[in-house]
Amino acid sequence: ETSQWQRPGPRSAELFERASRVTPGGVNSPVRAFAGVGGTPAFIERAKGAYIYDVDGNEYVDYVGSFGPMILGHAHPDVIDAVQKQAAKGLSFGAPTGLETELAELVCSMVDSIESVRMVNSGTEASMTALRLARGYTGRKKILKFKGNYHGHVDALLVDAGSGALTLGIPGSPGVPQAVVEDTLSATYNDLDSVVQAFDTHGDDIACVMVEPVAGNMNCVPPTEGFLDGLRELCDQHGALLIFDEVMTGFRVHPGCAQAYYGVKPDVTALGKIVGGGMPVGAVGGSAEIMETLAPTGPVYQAGTLSGHPLGMAAGIATLSRVKGGAVHDAIAPQLDKLLAGLDERAAKHGVPFMTQRVGAMFGMFFTDAKQVSRFDDVAACDTEAFSRFFHEMLDHGVYLAPSAFEAAFISQAHDDVAIARTLDAADAAFAALSRD
Ligand code: PMP
Repeated sequence: ETSQWQRPGPRSAELFERASRVTPGGVNSPVRAFAGVGGTPAFIERAKGAYIYDVDGNEYVDYVGSFGPMILGHAHPDVIDAVQKQAAKGLSFGAPTGLETELAELVCSMVDSIESVRMVNSGTEASMTALRLARGYTGRKKILKFKGNYHGHVDALLVDAGSGALTLGIPGSPGVPQAVVEDTLSATYNDLDSVVQAFDTHGDDIACVMVEPVAGNMNCVPPTEGFLDGLRELCDQHGALLIFDEVMTGFRVHPGCAQAYYGVKPDVTALGKIVGGGMPVGAVGGSAEIMETLAPTGPVYQAGTLSGHPLGMAAGIATLSRVKGGAVHDAIAPQLDKLLAGLDERAAKHGVPFMTQRVGAMFGMFFTDAKQVSRFDDVAACDTEAFSRFFHEMLDHGVYLAPSAFEAAFISQAHDDVAIARTLDAADAAFAALSRD
């Protein structure tokens, strides 16, 4: 069966076939497999600025940005230079370096709620550590998360929501024993009542509420007015810690993270993506008092052979030091304005039900008649088939979007007027194709 799509092309198809023989599904992270949109994934050779290039020589304007880290654009010369210089000194030492302190100092200077930070190797590790820390610090075992929020593939956080906050967690994957998710409560994002209910029943047992301050794993859904403030108040009333999973939002929605954007201070923050500038880095931060609960100062065990990896620290320092002053976000804002206004205009021209949501340098595209999308069920009600068609039309016209209607999109400071214009030309053709269906 031949694909109706031109791209990616025969070399990608061949590499995918080879990969599928030696790797489950041919990919090392599921969403890369194009499972949601169909077709063969593009295999990438290189990337520069706003563009990514596949092995068939196709050039795409990229809105994946490695799923978030690339806010400066791909292969930023300062970041590459920092990594190359550091690599020449040796890859890792298993002993402290000044680089780790330099990145920690940068993080502490940029994020209000963070006085002390522990480096780890991924967003998953960051949220796993944040969870253990909250349980160790409070001596409580229950945790509350939100349906449609994703915190990495941590056993206790891979939970499908039951019918409400008061049901027991159901394992979200085979291999996660019921016992591991028994203390995981699931509430509805942007529905404070569902959180109140959970606290009414389990208040004294809840160690923490863990939330993506802007939900970025159910497309892009900002918190509704009062939601984050409400979580802060409920946690304070009941002695639970508020954990912001800012793996995606950290340094992306604002140089001071979502907590600065919304003015709500969490107790613990999980970071990833931008903090490592494209290298495998995560981090957990909070007040010195809470963070000192971690080993070696405290009893909560946490460790990592490659944690604080010199190349990751070098890339993180180069990236964050450029994000810090606000110039990167200032440059991105008007470009994203143009992009989203242009998309709306073209969708309207072709009569395609469509809307966008954005915070800082992340955004979402929704195929729906709704004016606002604020809950998981609203996201699930959007037209995923229209998205898949749009995705492939965009790919064929040289724009690389995340291959899922449930992923947020990312723009960088390298998305100049040329990149935006090319995106909008592609979108015009894509919406036209959708309107013919
Ligand atoms: N938390 C959030 C909010 C994320 O978006 C992700 C990854 N997309 C993670 C945690 C997990 O991070 P990683 O894939 O680096 O383990």
